[in-house]
Amino acid sequence: MYLCYIDESGTSSIPGNTSHYVLAGLSIPIWDWKQSDRSINELRQKHSLSEAEIHTAWMLRKYLEQDRIPGFEAMSYQKRHVAVEQKRNAELLRLQRSNNTKHYRQTKKSYSKTADYIHLSYDERVAFIAEIATCVSGWGSARLFAECIDKIHFGAGKRRKSVDEQAFEQVVSRFEQFLENSGDGSEKRYGLLIHDNNQTVAARHTELMQRFHVAGTLWTKVENIMETPLFVDSALTSMVQIADLCSYAIRRYLENGESKLFDMVFARADRRGGKAVGVRHFAPKSCRCKICSAHRASSERSEPVQQALSLDET
Ligand SMILES: [Zn+2]
Repeated sequence: MYLCYIDESGTSSIPGNTSHYVLAGLSIPIWDWKQSDRSINELRQKHSLSEAEIHTAWMLRKYLEQDRIPGFEAMSYQKRHVAVEQKRNAELLRLQRSNNTKHYRQTKKSYSKTADYIHLSYDERVAFIAEIATCVSGWGSARLFAECIDKIHFGAGKRRKSVDEQAFEQVVSRFEQFLENSGDGSEKRYGLLIHDNNQTVAARHTELMQRFHVAGTLWTKVENIMETPLFVDSALTSMVQIADLCSYAIRRYLENGESKLFDMVFARADRRGGKAVGVRHFAPKSCRCKICSAHRASSERSEPVQQALSLDET
């Protein structure tokens, strides 16, 4: 049995405030789950993040108030925490008095999303996320699946599906093909999708999955994935947070060319015959990014049918 943890990065609306929408699934066989989960927890403990949700985008922001605390780096975690909270409370009070409601609300939200990380400096947070990515890149049995949609390219064609539907259908198809084609064929491999609980997505993906079970996706029958996705609270489920890290790293690479985290998570992309079939960039054919190059790479072995080709539409 394989568990595939799914999360997204960027907005699926067009144009939205990101150029890309990435839906990523990280598959882990249940016999390696315990060890993988333990290795993440060890890293959390090391950085006093045992109770915290690893939300990569929020962790990798700069917290300006930290720069305004003299000697911040030399303080203990506890002193840093107190000092940042003081600065933040003072700022909220100031904004409340200024009657700038929008700014006040945004600031309050950003403070609450980052409250668990304020004892770590920016460099320490960057190092922590890199340690997690390094750890994941070493999980030999884990496989990464992702559909990375360039929304400008997507918007240029006539599409019957929404960005979100195409992404989900692709990830399901690629995971299904992995289950179908991996192993020695002696026994059937089963998979289960596990998703962050987001009410709008939950209803839509459940409905789509029910349809796939009856009629297959556009690309494949669904025989190996069981059930509709299970929805969990990402704040409590480490592996969904790791899927979040993967989707974030892919989007930042495609949008900003940041390759450090990307290279580590892309190492886990499902590969077949020398091709990274598990991850696709839905972009113009002229794209020369690492995903497109690895997805098109010619087969070293001569396999009669390349699953990657059968799953691609342009
Ligand atoms: Zn590309």
